[in-house]
Amino acid sequence: MSQPLLRSRIAVITGAAQGIGYAIASRFVDEGARVVLGDLDAAAVAAAAERLGGPDAAVGVRCDVTDSADMDALLQAARDSFGAVDIMVNNAGITRDATMRTMTEEQFDQVIAVHLKGTWNGTRKAAAIMRERKRGAIVNLSSLSGKVGLAGQTNYSAAKAGIVGLSKAAAKEVAHHGIRVNAIQPGLIRTPMTEAMPEKVWEQKMAEIPMGRAGEVDEIASVALFLASDLSSYMTGTVLEVTGGRFM
Ligand code: NAP
Repeated sequence: MSQPLLRSRIAVITGAAQGIGYAIASRFVDEGARVVLGDLDAAAVAAAAERLGGPDAAVGVRCDVTDSADMDALLQAARDSFGAVDIMVNNAGITRDATMRTMTEEQFDQVIAVHLKGTWNGTRKAAAIMRERKRGAIVNLSSLSGKVGLAGQTNYSAAKAGIVGLSKAAAKEVAHHGIRVNAIQPGLIRTPMTEAMPEKVWEQKMAEIPMGRAGEVDEIASVALFLASDLSSYMTGTVLEVTGGRFM
């Protein structure tokens, strides 16, 4: 019988109380990892960790990724609970969609802070720990919106394109320490974030997808598993599109 892909690995996943982050955490646990989940809502993230098997398998920590001290505490929780950090998934995200004409400066700053500063915090702080053991895999959640730019998302498209540049620059800095950094660009995935969109917007987006359907969170989790595991041992600085062919 084959070994689980993440046997005895320790993974930290941000924004993991629900949606894509939770699906990634769940898939990692199924493959033998122990996981530390970070999210804004302390009760929700604790409940998510409990659903994944409780303290032997999963720990939930309240963490705002824009706050440097919170990110330190999240990573320290992984070391205190399980002894190391082998995998970091920077997944936390928000949208504050509006056209440029109506978008407030606050909406722009919030989205840049959560995605870009949050991913920068997670990437640099996880890498600083991983280099001690000369191994690690970092997976950053970008978006198709960062590849093509979507109307109403000047903040989000900028942040998600920025995550690509950040991931590539970081990949070059840490490759010689045995750390790989890769990014995923999901298309339309069914989560609480997208289910909040009006029906008309859903229909417009569906019409752009050659495969004719939205993606499921498990279909992002399996690509995150690939990038986090040794299956992708010779890949760094890459961006994988998981989009059903949309905007290929
Ligand atoms: P989601 O269901 O809204 O989950 C995101 C989680 O991140 C939420 O629990 C959210 O908490 C949390 N979060 C927000 N701000 C945070 C912060 N400052 N610190 C820590 N946690 C924070 O979204 P999702 O659809 O799973 O998205 C996950 C990632 O995939 C995001 O980076 C998103 O941009 C990206 N993505 C999603 C899609 C899609 O179609 N769903 C497509 C492309 C890319 P609250 O609920 O309390 O805000």
